[in-house]
Amino acid sequence: MKIRVVENVLKANDALAQENRQRLDEAAVRTINLMSAPGSGKTTLLEKTIEQLGAERCAVLVGDLQTTRDAERLEKAGAQTIQINTGKGCHLSATEVARGLEELDLDKVEYLFIENVGNMVCPAGFDLGEHQRVALLSIPEGDDKVAKYWTLFQSVDAILLTKMDLLEVLDYDINRVKADLARINTAAPFMEVSSKTGKGMEQWFNWLKNKQD
Ligand code: MG
Ligand code: ZN
Repeated sequence: MKIRVVENVLKANDALAQENRQRLDEAAVRTINLMSAPGSGKTTLLEKTIEQLGAERCAVLVGDLQTTRDAERLEKAGAQTIQINTGKGCHLSATEVARGLEELDLDKVEYLFIENVGNMVCPAGFDLGEHQRVALLSIPEGDDKVAKYWTLFQSVDAILLTKMDLLEVLDYDINRVKADLARINTAAPFMEVSSKTGKGMEQWFNWLKNKQD
């Protein structure tokens, strides 16, 4: 019985996600769902990305348990930003994204970034209506995360290894991560970036600019 309840919840979510995607397609807004652990640098990456792409072309939906700190930072970067407080909820669902979409003016927007709640488990199970998924993993988290949270990394279209500026100070084996990825996801490009120094960011910007599927 319990399993059936979960199935129904996911079915309802998927149907609504499909509606979100249709709406975003009609508005010609490429939508990217960013998923990662807390503190991996999603907000900082978005600040730099908005700066690069141009604030008027970008909108952000920020999922957070309590605070509006991330949304305030992104608003300062100039992009239309909607904060979604999930309370105790540890992931965003298609319902919350649908509500967020109602508040956005998508007229001039070309990119919608959804900053998911920091969590490497359940966000991967919820389609939000995005076109692409991006996972971040950061150097301080340790090099075992792909192996441990493989369902997340299996479901994404690109992977960013962030905070590369800390590689020198921490023991982090990039080859171990690549070997783990080779077993579960060989299609997603793997990009090594530092929002702080700007190193590798060009590859991420190019991915955003070229890969329009
Ligand atoms: Mg954040
Ligand atoms: Zn959750």
